[in-house]
Amino acid sequence: MIKITDKIYDVGTLPEPGTLPKQMHAWTIREERFGEPITSFKEEIVNVPRARHGEVVIANISAGVNYNGVWAALGKPKNVIAGNGSYDDDKEDFHICGSECAGIVYEVGEGVTNLKAGDYVIAGGAQFDENCELVKSGGDPVCSPTYRVWGYESNWGAFAQFSRVKAYQCMKKPEHLSWNEAAVLMATGMPVYKMLTHWKGNQIKKGDVVLIFGGSGGLGSMAIQLAKYFEAIPVAVVSTEEKGAYCMELGAKGYLNRKNYNHWGRLHNYLDPKVEKKWLISAMKFKKDIWRIVGAKHSPDIVVEHPGADTIPTSLFVCEAGGMVVTCGATSSYRADFDLRYLWLYQKRLQGSHSSSPEQYDEFYDVIVKSGIKPHIDKIMPWDKLPEAHQMLHEGKTVLGKLAISIVPQI
Ligand code: NDP
Repeated sequence: MIKITDKIYDVGTLPEPGTLPKQMHAWTIREERFGEPITSFKEEIVNVPRARHGEVVIANISAGVNYNGVWAALGKPKNVIAGNGSYDDDKEDFHICGSECAGIVYEVGEGVTNLKAGDYVIAGGAQFDENCELVKSGGDPVCSPTYRVWGYESNWGAFAQFSRVKAYQCMKKPEHLSWNEAAVLMATGMPVYKMLTHWKGNQIKKGDVVLIFGGSGGLGSMAIQLAKYFEAIPVAVVSTEEKGAYCMELGAKGYLNRKNYNHWGRLHNYLDPKVEKKWLISAMKFKKDIWRIVGAKHSPDIVVEHPGADTIPTSLFVCEAGGMVVTCGATSSYRADFDLRYLWLYQKRLQGSHSSSPEQYDEFYDVIVKSGIKPHIDKIMPWDKLPEAHQMLHEGKTVLGKLAISIVPQI
């Protein structure tokens, strides 16, 4: 039986095993504060959630910073407070973000067989109702109407001393990773692993050229390492030479600085032949520069796409015949357009890919352990700099890899 105490623990300290406080420190978002992350996040004392059937409560040692926190803070494109209470939780007027963490299991709910108190774990963001008909019949949980991203759509995320998660969200902490590295593995590592390996007919294989936008970012830095592990040829796209050098260190075969081309963005007035020609000259230069890096007229078999509007037309243009543009985001905008001829004439595939499914966790875990891949952390920031960390992402400040929030640094 777990002992419940009225004592509130200072951030950076842990209760003795077997004890859970009633209340805790947490970074919350409230509707009236929606806006810039620097002011949207506020530290509050809130109740500690308790583990129910199939769930565990984790003491967070470190948490990863992701765009989800930025979108949640802004209240756009989704109002996360309005959705609060939709996912078998009580409705609260605050929201705790954070979709990835590393921590220690403190409370184990009924029916949990794979975890025990004291286990060192990492948690990913995929949450769904296991009793949903689609899930029970073996369908992809991401397509379930009950699917949500923990710490974005659902509450009680990682930016608190304790989090409540489903047991299936957890995996053993890989031993070769520090607490901070382990905390930033899942939210970008697992989705990009899925992008590269999940889509039958276009799964990554030896010798494939993989074009990776935002090569120095969270998704990109993992994509480069994974592509190298699969003996593919990673080619990064970046916006500064410093970021390019960083991608080379990670294992990219080469990089392209997107500032050297002028065709990005939506295809305004593209039906005017002069406009199309101008676009094609720059897009073709970009394609030839990929060939130059690869050392052959081999275009990308897979394009790891997430900037959205600015890059989608180019991604489809440069993709190899029969290849795949796989997208999971829209940093520059979600309203995009492209020339359909490049899609059908060369039988290319435009594939949406979202989050991760726990059925792939074991496979991903094995690859991470076997390869020794580590997510790269640009900065480990203390608890009180959490709003600043999100503001950095929001303002597009240079982040090489990931940002981690160290919650219990001395462990
Ligand atoms: P990061 O900020 O770490 O990296 C994004 C990179 O994108 C930047 O380094 C930047 O690189 C590049 N970029 C930004 N704007 C543009 C642009 N206009 N054109 C080309 N490149 C651009 O973010 P993450 O890697 O963590 O996430 C990237 C996106 O993927 C986000 O929108 C996020 O929400 C989404 N995402 C979706 C997931 C899902 O499951 N659906 C999972 C994880 C992330 P540079 O300036 O050097 O080109």
